[in-house]
Amino acid sequence: MNRRNIDIERRSRRLVEGRRGEGPVVYWMSRDQRIADNWALLWAQQEALVRRKGLLVVFCLITDYPGATWPHYRFMLEGLLELQEKLRPLNIGFRLLEQSPEEILPGFLQQLDAHALVSDFDPLRIKQQWKKQLGSSLPMPFYEVDTHNIIPAWTISNKKEYAAYTLRPKVNRLLADYLSDIPAVQYHPFEHPASPAAVDAGNFIEKLLKQSPTGKSRLQPGEAAAEGAARNFLHNKLQDYSSSRNNPCLDGQSGLSPYLHFGQLSPQRLAWMVSQSELPADIKEPYLEELVVRRELSDNFCYYEPAYDCFAGFPEWARKTLDQHRYDPREHLYSLSEFEAGGTHEKLWNACQRDLLQSGKLHGYLRMYWAKKILEWTSDPETALHYALTLNDRYSLDGRDPNGYAGIAWSIGGVHDRAWRERAVFGKIRYMNEAGCRRKFDVDGYIRSVFDKK
Ligand SMILES: Cc1cc2nc3c(=O)[nH]c(=O)nc-3n(C[C@H](O)[C@H](O)[C@H](O)COP(=O)(O)OP(=O)(O)OC[C@H]3O[C@@H](n4cnc5c(N)ncnc54)[C@H](O)[C@@H]3O)c2cc1C
Repeated sequence: MNRRNIDIERRSRRLVEGRRGEGPVVYWMSRDQRIADNWALLWAQQEALVRRKGLLVVFCLITDYPGATWPHYRFMLEGLLELQEKLRPLNIGFRLLEQSPEEILPGFLQQLDAHALVSDFDPLRIKQQWKKQLGSSLPMPFYEVDTHNIIPAWTISNKKEYAAYTLRPKVNRLLADYLSDIPAVQYHPFEHPASPAAVDAGNFIEKLLKQSPTGKSRLQPGEAAAEGAARNFLHNKLQDYSSSRNNPCLDGQSGLSPYLHFGQLSPQRLAWMVSQSELPADIKEPYLEELVVRRELSDNFCYYEPAYDCFAGFPEWARKTLDQHRYDPREHLYSLSEFEAGGTHEKLWNACQRDLLQSGKLHGYLRMYWAKKILEWTSDPETALHYALTLNDRYSLDGRDPNGYAGIAWSIGGVHDRAWRERAVFGKIRYMNEAGCRRKFDVDGYIRSVFDKK
């Protein structure tokens, strides 16, 4: 095997044995919605080339995905339109199937007599359940390729990691080997057959987009825009990242999380570009720490902790301390709709909520403060968790992501953190307040900037 084959193979695993059909190799694309730098597509093509088969990409669209709203759908669908156009000259088919994968794929694949099925990796419950159900009803082999983590989630660790400091050495041991350039997908020389349920994906998506009550996406969606945004960050902002990223008044973060969430940008490509930049290591490392260690830690948490969005998923010390403070009196209590409307007594919190609604994104530093105040102003940690998850998933363009579940569990439930000085309501969970924010950045300037925005 050459280096390219090894790189592709070591990111895959077989979920189901089975009998290979005579039809094409099918890639069920789900989390990683891109053509470039996609190890799952490369795996599918390699398999199809060796077996002299056609190659088909399918996407299963469900219109009631938990927590997703029109801005999410719009961003994703516009990206899929671009993707379909780019697949055509590569002689790779694209099908949009309007149903949940575990319901529609078995029949669809059987009619095609598919040679094999491959999908990308996602640690979230709904995706794992789909795969489990599919696994029990497929006659052909079914593979999974992790093309979201640089080192596959099942390779980097076989257990739930305690914190960044336990995952970091594992990443450091393997990163130099896994962090490489990524080969390009080629023109596919074998024809894919006309398939059943061949909706014209382009027409269908355009029709859906016309129904969208929201106007244009705030951020230009799609692979090309993602690549442009990554280059812009690298050339113009990376050098100041470590000094400005914690100040919400400065545009210091990369702003790339929606592209990463929808898989329109490969985390490995981004990390590779950063690592190859000529900037000094002490400039590049803080960014790689977030992009690689923190991000892959979130996948690790959601993959190995089935209760990643529940109180039961918090570490024991955190559950204990939150239980001990469960009945502490709360000075302020708000309902979900009061939070949603930004109607608390604290101007900074209300500004954060308004910012989130207006821009579909909250600055990383403010996300922590925002979630911790929800803990302080609700009757119990379970309610706080439910409110924070609901609002984050509903309004953040990058919501419904392992990073969001881990970030909220960190803020409210001490996940990947340690015990701090004990106080009311929070117990030993790390506390944050407006005074702390004032020591970090110009809070009034931030509030003004949000309320002055048209
Ligand atoms: C309460 C709370 C909720 C969050 N919700 C989400 C969410 O829904 N979706 C989401 O992608 N991230 C979430 N995060 C993590 C983090 O805040 C965002 O990833 C980051 O702010 C995204 O902006 P950026 O791409 O400009 O980040 P940059 O600072 O430019 O970082 C680059 C990339 O590194 C990764 N990264 C950065 N910080 C973290 C982190 N703390 N944990 C894991 N990965 C990180 C992300 O992939 C990010 O895109 C949340 C954090 C908290 C505390």
